Amino acid sequence: MDTTYERDLQHAARLAQDYLAHVPDMPVFPSAEALAGLSDFDEPMPTHGISAENTLDLLHRVGSPATAVTTGSRYFGFVVGGALPATVAANWIATAWDQSPSSEMNSPTGVKLESVAGSWLVDLFGLPEATGVGMTTGATMANFTGLAAARTALLSRAGWNVEEQGLYGAPEIKVVVSEEVHVTVEKALSMLGFGKHRVVRVPTDANGAMIFDELPELDALTLVCTQAGNVNTGAIDPIGEIAREAEKVGAWVHVDGAFGIWAKLLESHQHYFTGIELAHSFATDAHKWLNTPYDCGIVLCRDASVLHQAMATTAPYFRADGQNAPKDMVPEFSRRARGVEVWAALRTLGRSGVAEMIERCCAHARRFAEGLRTIGFEVLNDVMLNQVVATIGSAEELAAIRAHVEASGECWFGPTVWKGRHAIRISVSSWRTTEADVDRSLKAIEAAKRAVLG
Ligand SMILES: *Cc1c(COP(=O)(O)O)cnc(C)c1O
Repeated sequence: MDTTYERDLQHAARLAQDYLAHVPDMPVFPSAEALAGLSDFDEPMPTHGISAENTLDLLHRVGSPATAVTTGSRYFGFVVGGALPATVAANWIATAWDQSPSSEMNSPTGVKLESVAGSWLVDLFGLPEATGVGMTTGATMANFTGLAAARTALLSRAGWNVEEQGLYGAPEIKVVVSEEVHVTVEKALSMLGFGKHRVVRVPTDANGAMIFDELPELDALTLVCTQAGNVNTGAIDPIGEIAREAEKVGAWVHVDGAFGIWAKLLESHQHYFTGIELAHSFATDAHKWLNTPYDCGIVLCRDASVLHQAMATTAPYFRADGQNAPKDMVPEFSRRARGVEVWAALRTLGRSGVAEMIERCCAHARRFAEGLRTIGFEVLNDVMLNQVVATIGSAEELAAIRAHVEASGECWFGPTVWKGRHAIRISVSSWRTTEADVDRSLKAIEAAKRAVLG
């Protein structure tokens, strides 16, 4: 028996466990010393190989202290999320398998788990059973894939085969976005040949949701990009209303629901999502609010055949068995078996466990907002999800407060500008965060405020 795997994996497990054991006490953002230590990686590529043990030790000694502790309970930057223990463990097994689930020919298990996880997600989000699902690197590529399906559908109905003929000379598609469109949707639009700026921008309300009455006229060559979960405020566009309007003329509605769509599981949030199943394509992430390890995005397309048409590849060495093989539903051909962790998360949490995790994060965000107001901050958003945008003092003072909190190592959150005002942005997306974490973070923010503003 080859004992190399056993030796290296046990060593890695020890080091990873050592890391995880230290997570609660680590500074949430690495110290200057730890960051300077990264230069230890700057060695010339060795002529002769160095042992795995030595390599893993270096990884842990230098790499671990310089991580942003996103897997801990007090990282509130961007919308990152932690990683549930069961998903990290499942990921280790999947890595040992080393599967690329292009089709059942190279990974029966990978394809099966992706298909099971996909159908559970369709059910969870209340979408029609026949909805097509694909797993991508993240919501950026899920947006790209959903928008590619939109391009295929709209143009093929106009008698144009974009896969074969490209975009030169094609009927023109009118792209409608919110003025709060996420930068990655713009990137996807640019990669698809639509152009970031060749779009109609719809004004938004005070919380950043599209104003329905400001929608331009839609037609059968219109693509509307909506959003469930504004990256600053959490705001959700009136997607159902827009989709009903689109239905009348045959326009396509895409939903960027990177994190916000998970709130659909909450009874309290149903009204935001009424009619959302009428939208045509959806993008979301598992690595954010579902708390699977990086990376995993998910594209869902009500008409699976359109997604297939946009993404399909044929080669003589693949069986053409009429199945929606993963390689025919997303841009990537070879890739890791992402469905494993999604399946593990959904199976270990169950429907109620996922909903509880989402609700808990929203409750913590409300607690943050309340606490911030108490210590003199102005909360700028309607805290209807897991996002809090707040401000105090001048832009310079706010930056100093943020730097002070970062240096304390107690918690971490980023800066933003909301409706022209400099602010801090807090996202509660980790399964691990508790009320005590929120209170401890508020204390650190208050201390920083006192140090800067007196
Ligand atoms: C994070 C995010 C994205 C991009 O997702 P990635 O997983 O980082 O590629 C797109 N839209 C919204 C609203 C997001 O929050």
